[in-house]
Amino acid sequence: MRRAKGRRRGAFFSTALLPLLLLAAALALAAPRRSGGGSGGAVGTGTSSGAACVLTELGEEAVHAGDLILVNNWTPYRFPEEQELARIFDGKTASYYVRDREVYLAPRALTALNAMMDDFQAQGGSRTVNVVAGYRTEAFQQHLFDQSVERNGREHAEEFVAQPGGSEHHTGLVVDFSIFYEDGTSAEYRGTGEYAWINGNCQDYGWVVRYAKEKEPLTGIGDEPWHFRYVGVPHATAMAEGDLCLEEYIDELRRYPFEGEHLTVDCADGRYEIWYCQGTEAYLPDSGDYQVSGNNVDGFVVTYKVS
Ligand SMILES: [Zn+2]
Repeated sequence: MRRAKGRRRGAFFSTALLPLLLLAAALALAAPRRSGGGSGGAVGTGTSSGAACVLTELGEEAVHAGDLILVNNWTPYRFPEEQELARIFDGKTASYYVRDREVYLAPRALTALNAMMDDFQAQGGSRTVNVVAGYRTEAFQQHLFDQSVERNGREHAEEFVAQPGGSEHHTGLVVDFSIFYEDGTSAEYRGTGEYAWINGNCQDYGWVVRYAKEKEPLTGIGDEPWHFRYVGVPHATAMAEGDLCLEEYIDELRRYPFEGEHLTVDCADGRYEIWYCQGTEAYLPDSGDYQVSGNNVDGFVVTYKVS
């Protein structure tokens, strides 16, 4: 991750900035080729790399959708009316197992999982990884939580099982791994031994190991080396290089508003420029390859492919 040098703003815009945002939108429309959003000084209308951007209303619902949404016990998932899910059993490659036919994942996360597991096997990994969990409904999370309380007590449940609505599994962007041996026995996935390759390279495929012991005060969840969250390659790379959990990364991104310096990330996929927009509007490039995701809190993160 490369952090652009320069001034940094506070986490939130004051409402006094609204007229400036509107002016920027007007400028963007009037002079679409003008660039320099990241150059500091006056509010710009483009990316640092020269693409013109237009302030676009995306709506409140969009704040709660996308690859980068933060979901935890304090930031519940907002279930959309329809969620696009793929049956892993039907869409997976032969380089890993899935528990049964009832494990689902967002299609783009499944594509990224296939790529990671195929490369794991190609570099010498065994075919022993078993996907034991993917998407979960709120009712199923309630069931898991109650079951954990019953078996291990409330304290243990609260450390290791998210509250219903507060589980990342609701997003369809998460998998849990287990180990399944040829002789039919199984073991807990720890991400060690040959599997250290997966935990060490998952960012190149857009995945992060979401819960580390030292981040527990921030995530609310104990060490879970088997729980992988898809966020996309540039963000996974930035998080891995900065040793940031998603709670920290979402905060960090607020230091890169459209009007200030943008974050530049060089990753397995190329170079990306990333900025944050608070509220329900975001500056979107008028051309080129980009993605916009809500952060599930207060705004959007725009990820623009530079090269
Ligand atoms: Zn999990």
